[in-house]
Amino acid sequence: AVELDRVTKSFEANTPVVNHVSVKVEPGEFFVLVGPSGCGKSTLLRMIAGLESISNGSIYIDHQQANFLPPSKRNLSMVFQNYALYPHLSVEDNITFGLDVQKIKKYERKKRCSETADLLGLTDYLKRKPRHLSGGQRQRVALARAIASQTPICLMDEPLSNLDAKLRAYMRSEIRKLQRKLQMTMIYVTHDQIEAMTMGDRMMVINEGEIQQIGNPIDVYNAPSNTFVAHFIGSPP
Ligand code: ATP
Ligand code: MG
Repeated sequence: AVELDRVTKSFEANTPVVNHVSVKVEPGEFFVLVGPSGCGKSTLLRMIAGLESISNGSIYIDHQQANFLPPSKRNLSMVFQNYALYPHLSVEDNITFGLDVQKIKKYERKKRCSETADLLGLTDYLKRKPRHLSGGQRQRVALARAIASQTPICLMDEPLSNLDAKLRAYMRSEIRKLQRKLQMTMIYVTHDQIEAMTMGDRMMVINEGEIQQIGNPIDVYNAPSNTFVAHFIGSPP
């Protein structure tokens, strides 16, 4: 489980970009985070990953206080909004980078690399460097790296934003299938209504760093808790 207890982040004094966020994401749950640009989604995800310090409050991972746990000890992988690939490494080495760190044996690394490359249509690009890939291909490498790591917790920050509609639809169901199969705890950031409505067990709507509503997508759609949520989700009046 990933539990947030009044998590707050201020980059500048007294202007929190994440404000008193409390929620418990259950093991194996697909949890979707939605909200407008600048509402604090990436900042929240980065705090969970341990890449950003917390100004106030606590994060617990598997019931352990994790505020000061280094990222590598959190049992999680992350797909970044800007891909964050290693420019000097080939696609293959980018995909398996985390597996080297986890000390996974060579034959298993090869197997996971070819399976995820196959899944994401990257088999022909394994020897290339990221700068010789298109935006969508880079995004798929970032996804492949997270999927190959098979960590119990996965954080994804708008992982499909750069893909065309057809590939996006395909990846929505592939990610969901994998998450179920591996029973991953998924925290998935998107601003895409279809992803928010169709992928998550629950969704959390944020505005200006504050929780507006948490619930099953259908319930949120049918019974938005305020006008912001209604507008944002596009609920009928
Ligand atoms: P988007 O949908 O556009 O990706 P977001 O919801 O992910 O937006 P964040 O990236 O979390 O938003 O940013 C939340 C707020 O925090 C923004 O106002 C942003 O300018 C500010 N912010 C983010 N990182 C920093 C930083 N390192 N220093 C100062 N302000 C920051
Ligand atoms: Mg963001």
